[in-house]
Amino acid sequence: MTYDTKWAIRWLADFSDRVIKNKQLLSDLDQAIGDGDHGINMARGLTELQKVLTEKEPTSVKETFKTAGMTILSKVGGASGPLYGSAFLAISKATDTETLSETELIEALEAGLAGIEHRGKSHAGEKTMIDVWEPVIHALRQDELTGDVIEAALQKTKDLKATKGRAAYLGERSIGHLDPGAYSSALLFQALLAQEGIS
Ligand code: ADP
Ligand code: MG
Repeated sequence: MTYDTKWAIRWLADFSDRVIKNKQLLSDLDQAIGDGDHGINMARGLTELQKVLTEKEPTSVKETFKTAGMTILSKVGGASGPLYGSAFLAISKATDTETLSETELIEALEAGLAGIEHRGKSHAGEKTMIDVWEPVIHALRQDELTGDVIEAALQKTKDLKATKGRAAYLGERSIGHLDPGAYSSALLFQALLAQEGIS
């Protein structure tokens, strides 16, 4: 399987659709353990991204992810804007070829995860989006990524105590709630699974 510019645009457009559809749910999740703006933040940035991607269609995979990173950085705000922005910019940086092979895609996603960890000074187990990114990339490496793997990673954030981001202020009281950023990242990877590359 290889992945080209059209694929990257389809993936980001599908991710945007899913976030926009789940805007209220994402904000409700954030209301429980944060300030209730995650859906609003993400939907604002991703509505703009869809507009940018159709008005000026990128001509390379690298440019597609750079556009996503820059648009999200400038429009999403909150903690998630810089984090998703850093992720997509790192993915763009790690993408030097016309099309991505399976291995190159996984390496680019690993660079994206490293971008989040660097920006957020965070790692797995802290009840953040990383708790979806990390197991998903691990499963991709094993060629075992399914919707169930994504869902299981998301559900596991319920049992975690937040030690990063606003939810960390709640300490033990953050336990029992899904992490909103983990939810939006689950949408990102469900959108990835839904896109066919070129065989
Ligand atoms: P804010 O917390 O500024 O209101 P959002 O509500 O848009 O921003 O995003 C919150 C999400 O960001 C959290 O659910 C979590 O997944 C993620 N997050 C927050 N801080 C960090 C961090 N340091 N590292 C990784 N992810 C983080
Ligand atoms: Mg918030």
